[in-house]
Amino acid sequence: MVSLFINEEAMQTIVEIVKSGVVLVSDGAWGTFLHEKGLEPGQCPELWCITRRSDVLDIAKSYVEAGADTIESNSFGANRLKLAHYGLEERAGEINRAAAEISREAAGTGCRVIASMGPTGKIIMMGDVSENEIYDSFAEQAVALDAGGADACCIETMTALDEACLAVKAAKENTRLEVICTFTFDKTLDGSYRTMMGVSPADMAAALAKAGAAIIGTNCGNGMERMIEIVSEIRRADSKLPVLVHANAGLPENRDGTVVFPETPEMMAYLVPRLVQAGANIVGGCCGTTPEHIRAIKKAVEEIGEM
Ligand SMILES: [Zn+2]
Repeated sequence: MVSLFINEEAMQTIVEIVKSGVVLVSDGAWGTFLHEKGLEPGQCPELWCITRRSDVLDIAKSYVEAGADTIESNSFGANRLKLAHYGLEERAGEINRAAAEISREAAGTGCRVIASMGPTGKIIMMGDVSENEIYDSFAEQAVALDAGGADACCIETMTALDEACLAVKAAKENTRLEVICTFTFDKTLDGSYRTMMGVSPADMAAALAKAGAAIIGTNCGNGMERMIEIVSEIRRADSKLPVLVHANAGLPENRDGTVVFPETPEMMAYLVPRLVQAGANIVGGCCGTTPEHIRAIKKAVEEIGEM
């Protein structure tokens, strides 16, 4: 009976788990880790899935060991349009598949892989690229992440509705992945939140619900405090879709020419109950966060469960 129960739980989708009332903990930053391991400026981070596999696996494992229920993959910039900067566009399939396989290996059976898909860097409105090119680029990436064993994809750091909706559709129509999409917001002078392209949290929620995203949310750009405000805005616009938050370790500060993210694991963990109360279902970190931050967030989430 016990093994049957475990199997059933393993079969549950991420949406089903969070709808049952469980708060999941996601992972933290990957980029800083890659630089610590020797990634040079100007090198393609995602190519390391092939050339430095064990280093990438180490990063994924460190988050699993920290207690993450979901981990991402080293595939943020691995769409064909972005890889073209390095002349690697023909290797998009190979790189994304490897990225998902590495995270799958680290995740084992207890942890879910929500593979990262970042923006293309092209602006449809400016005529940089056609909608078909954007769609095809994301479809190719999502198919390879699916083949590599990802459970979901996280289309993240989005600022434009058209690009994000094309990515959601491309992943939904070509894979079995659960599709998550998160936007990056800045606080404006009047205190409201907008992306670089002028999109509000409410605009995002409406457009992504229509495009068919399973989970929506926000990543990067802000620390926990502001994420609480953004989640409240998302919740006012959409009370049904689960919400994921990948918060930075505070707002970056320039200290003697070095960018520093000031929030300690304890500072971030302290705000987790309020973030969950505001409506977040999956909580993790973005820039400046480490396995120590995730460990502290995990503890905070467990303590909510005990209250
Ligand atoms: Zn970030």
